[in-house]
Amino acid sequence: MTVVLVVNSGSSSLKYQLIEMSDERVLASGLIERIGEASGVVTHKRGDERAERELEIGDHDAAFDIMMQNFAEHGPSMDDAKPVVVGHRIVQGGRRFYGPTIIDEKVEMDIEELIPLAPLHNGPNLAGVRAARRVFANIPHVAVFDTAFHTTLSDAASYYALNREVADKYRVRKYGAHGTSHKYVSEAAAEFLDRPYDELRTVVLHIGNGASACAVDGGKSIDTSMGMTPLEGLVMGTRTGDIDPAVLFHLHRKAGYSVDDLDRLLNKQSGLLGLTGTNDVRDVTARAAAGDEAAELGLEIYVHRLRHYIGSYLVALQGADVIAWCGGVGENSVEVRKRALAGMEWLGVELDAERNEARRDGIREISTDSSRVRILVVPTNEEIEIARQSLEATGVPAAQ
Ligand code: ADP
Repeated sequence: MTVVLVVNSGSSSLKYQLIEMSDERVLASGLIERIGEASGVVTHKRGDERAERELEIGDHDAAFDIMMQNFAEHGPSMDDAKPVVVGHRIVQGGRRFYGPTIIDEKVEMDIEELIPLAPLHNGPNLAGVRAARRVFANIPHVAVFDTAFHTTLSDAASYYALNREVADKYRVRKYGAHGTSHKYVSEAAAEFLDRPYDELRTVVLHIGNGASACAVDGGKSIDTSMGMTPLEGLVMGTRTGDIDPAVLFHLHRKAGYSVDDLDRLLNKQSGLLGLTGTNDVRDVTARAAAGDEAAELGLEIYVHRLRHYIGSYLVALQGADVIAWCGGVGENSVEVRKRALAGMEWLGVELDAERNEARRDGIREISTDSSRVRILVVPTNEEIEIARQSLEATGVPAAQ
């Protein structure tokens, strides 16, 4: 058995999966939520068994100890499973990390140094790394960066037209995000279609609460919609995505919004939530179908931006072989997929109405047989991708 422990440590939560790599089977997984609040929630799943409890979880060290207790009480025992590596999701690797990296003191310092570029994420990611290295002191830990897949973007695609001196001094450029998912999905699409990954041109639409599009040319990201931070690009659950930056000057000058007010407004109070009152696409589509005008308009604004990026990436790729949908919305919303791809037959993009509506687990094709561009739904799996890359970085084979 070759087992990998995957850790995704966020600001108030710790997610983990223990994966047996020979068949990529999840031995157990868990979620520790509301770290730092008065009452936290802990869930541990092993097969069909599920254990849940509530207790106060002071910090990430405490969360990690609770995870270890979960394994001790509900299994599998760490003594039996013996993970060979711990893979960590790290959001921001800047232009410093181009792939999975074995963590040492220097790498920890680099992740810390990149906190200003991802203040909401890199700090909590690092807290998870430190807690894990304390408990698993004798096995390698690997950092898998969300940005790494996008380090192949050209300078033309990743620099803003911002004063170059300022941009370089403060490291302002497009780093993108969701890279682990874009890589996993584009690779899985190639495998599903039995096409060589290094030849396939794919538009990946990772549409969840956070959302980003990516143009993948022969396995390399050549453009992506998130920017220096995950705020840019598509309309999201609570984020504006693209907006004229002068709106911020206007709100500051006319309405006295502070930087923190603007941050909250654009990141937490806008997007579908700010347009319709809910960030859940299920509710928005249901309300729109029932004739709610705000919901209908919110949905149209959401789809308008999606179409803008799809068109842009079809040009960037000089035509695509595949459009792959993933994320909570991308995998489940028949209506968003239908509206986003409407009227694209002239581009060779033909959605099959019946296939779009059919619900099935796993990868499925939803284009017509005659569609030049194959349209797929590909359930993403960032944990498996992190586990694969972590193992690869250590050089240990998946089956021993
Ligand atoms: P995150 O970005 O937080 O990882 P997910 O990828 O899990 O988010 O997506 C969550 C979102 O997926 C929900 O907010 C909801 O809008 C959407 N969603 C989930 N299930 C459905 C469904 N059956 N139909 C439409 N949208 C759905």
